[in-house]
Amino acid sequence: MNIGLPREIKDNEYRVGLTPGSVHALVEQGHRVWVQSGAGMGSFISDEDYRSAGAEIVPCAEDAWAAQLVVKVKEPTEAEYRYLRKDLLLFTYLHLASNETLTERLLASGASAIAYETVQTADGTLPLLRPMSEVAGRMAVQVGAMYLLKTQGGRGVLMSGVPGVAPANVVILGAGTVGTNAARVAAGMGAAVTVLDISHDRLKMLDDHFPGRLQTLFSDRLNIQEVVGQADLVIGAVLIPGGRSPWLITREMLPQMRNGAVIVDVAVDQGGCVETTRATTHSDPVFEIDGVLHYGVANMPGAVPRTSTFALNNQTAAYVLSLANEGLAAMRHDRALLHGLNICRGHVTHPAVAQAFELAC
Ligand code: NAD
Repeated sequence: MNIGLPREIKDNEYRVGLTPGSVHALVEQGHRVWVQSGAGMGSFISDEDYRSAGAEIVPCAEDAWAAQLVVKVKEPTEAEYRYLRKDLLLFTYLHLASNETLTERLLASGASAIAYETVQTADGTLPLLRPMSEVAGRMAVQVGAMYLLKTQGGRGVLMSGVPGVAPANVVILGAGTVGTNAARVAAGMGAAVTVLDISHDRLKMLDDHFPGRLQTLFSDRLNIQEVVGQADLVIGAVLIPGGRSPWLITREMLPQMRNGAVIVDVAVDQGGCVETTRATTHSDPVFEIDGVLHYGVANMPGAVPRTSTFALNNQTAAYVLSLANEGLAAMRHDRALLHGLNICRGHVTHPAVAQAFELAC
């Protein structure tokens, strides 16, 4: 099969859909990979890196989009709609339920589209979303440590403390993928870490993994109030699947927080778990309310595209290979991929997308 790798053109998107390692694996199995010149530059992967892996470098987007299977990171933008066509198989993040125009364009084109975010394994996990939560969780502590610097507007607290001076108090709301990864880095830096969740299983897992290195606490209003009041850094990491994040820190709780404390609300893409959070950008990431710095960047992994590209590709690579080998037929034996199929030859095939626009599924 021919596989196309276009350069991402969405604003501030520096990731790329395939690494040279994946290209090599595809070429080894007899496929041709057409990489648009410069596709990997945002992740510091050169045309030469791809060429050495066996790719053919093509000069423009149109050439890469001409392939039977196109692998991307972000959903097609308006400028890319013209590449959608009947015999195209598209594999990328799509988020169609919140994008009616793209849904209509895909349906009208007759293309088939598999969304990373709905690929789902038998145990209910979303393997192509998880790597970005891992990145965001680890990064949340890094970002929080930076904004705790007095020079950045924070409380002037060093995460690890020093002999004779206490470390920073880090409170993590949610012990899922983001929370666990945040806890790992915060504990590794020597901070005093408390993680709250409503799931006993998640708290037990953390307690087993990091014995003596962090404290776990059931997430209820009183416990949250108590620990947040003592926190230097709060990381918001809750998720109600398919729903809006609950406000665990309300407006009234802010004055009880330490002056110069920092909130990194990773859950901001689902509305945030702090009432005062609003979505911010990498170019203007923080704002202050009642002496508390808020960080609410909704696409945190975008700041570390090189790590994110490889993390994402590690998870997508096996699916890309089976789509290249078998096309849509790969879904006959791979139910995870079948969950990912959102649009198939002019029909909506994912219930959430159909429901969002009252379409037949
Ligand atoms: P996850 O499902 O792995 O974990 C969520 C956890 O929240 C679960 O353990 C759940 O039990 C817990 N939870 C639910 N209600 C709670 C409550 N009231 N109190 C405490 N815990 C509660 O999800 P995840 O992958 O860790 O993602 C967390 C959030 O981060 C999501 O909103 C996700 O979209 C977001 N995210 C944001 C970025 C970004 O760039 N900002 C990147 C990746 C993920």
